[in-house]
Amino acid sequence: MDVRQYELYIAGRFTRGTGDATFDSINPATGQTVATFVDASEADVAAAISAARKAFDSGPWARMPVAERAERLNRVLHIIGSRIPELAQMEYQDNGATVRQATSFMVPGALAFAMGMTDLATSFPFQEGIPVTTGPAPVGPYGAYTLKYEPIGVVGAITPWNGPLILAMWKVWPALLAGNTVVLKPSELASSTASELAKAFAEADMPPGVLNVVTGGGAVGAALVKSPHVDHVSFTGGTETGRQIATYAASANLKRLTLELGGKSPAIVLDDVDLDVAVDGVVWSTLFLSGQMCTCASRVLVDNKIYDEFVGRLVDRIGKLVVGPTDDMSTDLGPVVSQRQRDRIERYVQIGISEGAVAALEGGRPSSPELAGGTYLEPTVFVDATPAMTISQEEIFGPVLAVMKTESDDDAVRIANDTPYGLAASIWTSDTRRALTLSDRLRCGTVWINDHNIISPSIPFGGFKMSGLGRENGVSGFKEYLEQKAVYLDLTPSPEQHMWGLVAPR
Ligand code: NAD
Repeated sequence: MDVRQYELYIAGRFTRGTGDATFDSINPATGQTVATFVDASEADVAAAISAARKAFDSGPWARMPVAERAERLNRVLHIIGSRIPELAQMEYQDNGATVRQATSFMVPGALAFAMGMTDLATSFPFQEGIPVTTGPAPVGPYGAYTLKYEPIGVVGAITPWNGPLILAMWKVWPALLAGNTVVLKPSELASSTASELAKAFAEADMPPGVLNVVTGGGAVGAALVKSPHVDHVSFTGGTETGRQIATYAASANLKRLTLELGGKSPAIVLDDVDLDVAVDGVVWSTLFLSGQMCTCASRVLVDNKIYDEFVGRLVDRIGKLVVGPTDDMSTDLGPVVSQRQRDRIERYVQIGISEGAVAALEGGRPSSPELAGGTYLEPTVFVDATPAMTISQEEIFGPVLAVMKTESDDDAVRIANDTPYGLAASIWTSDTRRALTLSDRLRCGTVWINDHNIISPSIPFGGFKMSGLGRENGVSGFKEYLEQKAVYLDLTPSPEQHMWGLVAPR
């Protein structure tokens, strides 16, 4: 198989940069190298930032009407849209998703998010007039404010490996539609589709420097965050990395930050649920992308009145899922992303056992020789877990469920809220009123009722507590890429009415 070769994309040109370091993307399904990337040097990151700076400060992009920016970005989307199967294959070869997930969700979903954000941005009021009376009554100046939304400047976008193209689109599209310019740093585990996005920008003849793509590991991301010439960083990844990024950002230039971090989301199963629906729903909630989606439910809180029956059915259903090759349409679960991640997940399984959780299903490495080259791991279902256990508190990011028994709705809420995270939750019930009441008490950014992992371009998404700062998607997500400027015009009819007399009476 040919190994794809990629270069950095800086100021509208592809370049090998200043150093000679490279790194490989390894297909987690086979262990084979699928692509080679340039490991950007600090000088390369500086060049990308400088290209974005120039495009923002003196290029046409920030001053163009939003409709024109949208029209140009749509040309890029057409190119991406004409290559869905090929890009989907790159996604699953980089990160171990299944062909079913990559073809029908990861690439078309990325396009849908970009299109949704384009609709939102092109109807966004970039300017609002607000008539006001200011100053102390009964006198006081009278005037009008215009509230303007302006781009922030250079945006650094840093993404993880689990949804490479979608999560790049979540950042690049709103940032560019708002008039910013961008330096994108994809995950070193899955950089192919970000690099293909660069090619689509070149093919669509986008202005140089508007999007720059630099590849590499944490050091490349850190160089971006530490630069005083970057005005905003939008980061998706782990909570510890997010914490480091916040520190760098504060000491560099107090740059704006959007942080989408980790989670320990619960699926709450109430006693009145339709068990057939809930079992399939909880499998989807917990094991999409082998449990490697940030919102995946890794805790399943089940009412004690249905606990035994529900858990029996859940374990049975999960035990029948097909762990197999990523390019096979009948595969349900592919490998986890890397050897390192598999070792980490296996350590958590051992911790769960040592802390007394019962593995009703203990997933090991599959025995099939066909899968021996990949980082496959069958799912583990811990039952009778308790809220204080490590497996109930820490993000594992793999096919491992901690199932807990709850005594009441109050108990379910207490356990659901009892982690440092607050990304999402789902409630499974046939009683909508009961679900709505519970949803008010959950400390997280998204609550789904009878579904899970549903994210929309028009709805703000983000975390409470240590799951993040700010929002992506929706109007609030778009506003993350804008500064607000208030411009005041005096309309006071007579000089006496001004507040000036407080200093210099006439
Ligand atoms: P990660 O934090 O290891 O890496 C994410 C990105 O940050 C990568 O591009 C990486 O190279 C870069 N990076 C690493 N160290 C850095 C540093 N010091 N400074 C700047 N950049 C640095 O995360 P990951 O393993 O790629 O992804 C998994 C994590 O992402 C999980 O915790 C998951 O919950 C989270 N995630 C969150 C969301 C969300 O929207 N909340 C979505 C997807 C994934």
